[in-house]
Amino acid sequence: MPYKDPEKQKAYHAAYGKLYSEAHREQKAANMRAWRETHREHHLAIRKAWREANLERERAKGRAYHLAHPEQEAAKKKKYNESHREENAACRKAYYEANSETIKASSRVYHEEHREQILLTLKAWREANREHIQEYREETREHKNAQSKTYHKTHRVQDAARNKAYKAAHPEKIAAELICYRERHRVEIAQRARLGRIAYPEKQRAASRRWYELHKSQAIQSVRKREARIRNVFVETVDRLAIYERDEGKCGICHKFVSINNFNIDHILPIAQGGPHSLINVQVAHPICNFRKGAGARFPQQLRLV
Ligand SMILES: [Zn+2]
Repeated sequence: MPYKDPEKQKAYHAAYGKLYSEAHREQKAANMRAWRETHREHHLAIRKAWREANLERERAKGRAYHLAHPEQEAAKKKKYNESHREENAACRKAYYEANSETIKASSRVYHEEHREQILLTLKAWREANREHIQEYREETREHKNAQSKTYHKTHRVQDAARNKAYKAAHPEKIAAELICYRERHRVEIAQRARLGRIAYPEKQRAASRRWYELHKSQAIQSVRKREARIRNVFVETVDRLAIYERDEGKCGICHKFVSINNFNIDHILPIAQGGPHSLINVQVAHPICNFRKGAGARFPQQLRLV
């Protein structure tokens, strides 16, 4: 029965509609779902159109919300990241693989532009994590050594080429490093050189001839010095072959036979320590034994035999 009062009629319709909705909620929802299923594309298109039309507004709203609730947003983000760790990693990897060239190029540009800043940050990080770095190095040392060994074995040619190129590009640096090395290893280098001279007497003679031609005055001076030193102690004429005969061709240090073609006259108490250049203070010695005695202890056992 229609009402005469339109206000009353409106109220009646509203109340009736509400009642009807409540009674048929399930049915209505099912209807809606069915409509969406059959009009899916249409529905999606509508949604998309709405989003596009309201994009700026929605974004601004999102930004405003974000700014107004920074802590909640951060917490939400953290929670999301924690529960989606693997997906995130996979996503990042896929993105990186698809865009690796662009990423590399832009990262190069960034590094060039922010070089000093990056270096400072790195330095600060290293200083803050020194112990951690040390630990890591010790843990991975063996693995790394093995790795680099196999690498060098399989990349010998490339390594050599790279070394050569580096040397050609940095001659001053290389020269400075060489000087440093020689300073640090002075004793070993001298020993090695002396051993080489003993092992290759022919080569040694040729080299000393060359050196003598180049450094005549220096050589003469050093001989004079030695003579002066000898003159300060006692000197008598020492004939090499006579000493060899007297010692029966035996090394006074190791007591084994010495070749007459290659023997030294060793001062039992070195001249530098005030030993005389006399028959009683000299003996036949292998060059190598003589050298070892000079390099090693200054008072070897044979001194006590004199
Ligand atoms: Zn010897």
